[in-house]
Amino acid sequence: MWPSAAARGLVILLVGALMGVDPQQLLQLMGNGPPGAAPGGRAREALERELTPDEVQSRDFAATILAFSEDVWTEQFRRAGETYEPPKMVLFAEGVETACGNAPSAVGPFYCPGDKTVYLDPTFFEELEQKLGGSKAEFSQAYVIAHEIGHHVQNLLGYSAKADRARRTSSKTEYNKMSVRLELQADFLAGVWAHYGQQKFNFVEPGDIDEAMRSAKAIGDDRIQKNSRGFVSPESYTHGTSAQRTKWFRLGLQSGDLDMMKKLFDLPYDEL
Ligand SMILES: [Zn+2]
Repeated sequence: MWPSAAARGLVILLVGALMGVDPQQLLQLMGNGPPGAAPGGRAREALERELTPDEVQSRDFAATILAFSEDVWTEQFRRAGETYEPPKMVLFAEGVETACGNAPSAVGPFYCPGDKTVYLDPTFFEELEQKLGGSKAEFSQAYVIAHEIGHHVQNLLGYSAKADRARRTSSKTEYNKMSVRLELQADFLAGVWAHYGQQKFNFVEPGDIDEAMRSAKAIGDDRIQKNSRGFVSPESYTHGTSAQRTKWFRLGLQSGDLDMMKKLFDLPYDEL
């Protein structure tokens, strides 16, 4: 479902283009990539050439998840008396320049608060497909995207700024604790998304959740180790254990209740 190896080597495709993002801005994002990334000319070419069927499928899958997340979060924000501003989403290969720095290739999916963009590296999704296959892989891919969009929701609600302040003012141990809270909250938000998504996509089968979440984490951790030079992926921060992540995802899935995530932030650390 995600681009094959043959499709790599080009900056692939940009869901943002579907979402009303200025293509010029996207070219800039791709054209100024780190050494080894496609130069501007090639990026332009990549944008203008026809997409392969695999690429079309990748784009459509990510776009479906993104579009549905917009429905869910617009409604949840409306209920809370707030206005939801959707994130941008960029699929990339061979590195990408972001407001959070130059991301090398194979860094895995991440969200950059500075440009409110979810960056997806499709090779990550291919690995999930190879490892899990079928509905489990599809569920994992959707979960990973929803988790990154969860970071965007946190950003809009001011939690990212709170964590940022903690990073500047507290000890490493305290900051790690804050980071775990933030990650578990993003998992919870992915669960809330899945609560509403389940009715529409029916992608969650009870046995799938544990294995899919473990695999997503394992592949993520591998990549973080491979990419420890230079760019620090926001996803390289402490995430909590697999058991904690599954617990909070499930709580979101069962409750669909945004209010509960505020409680998560106030719970004593050892009760997370
Ligand atoms: Zn995260």
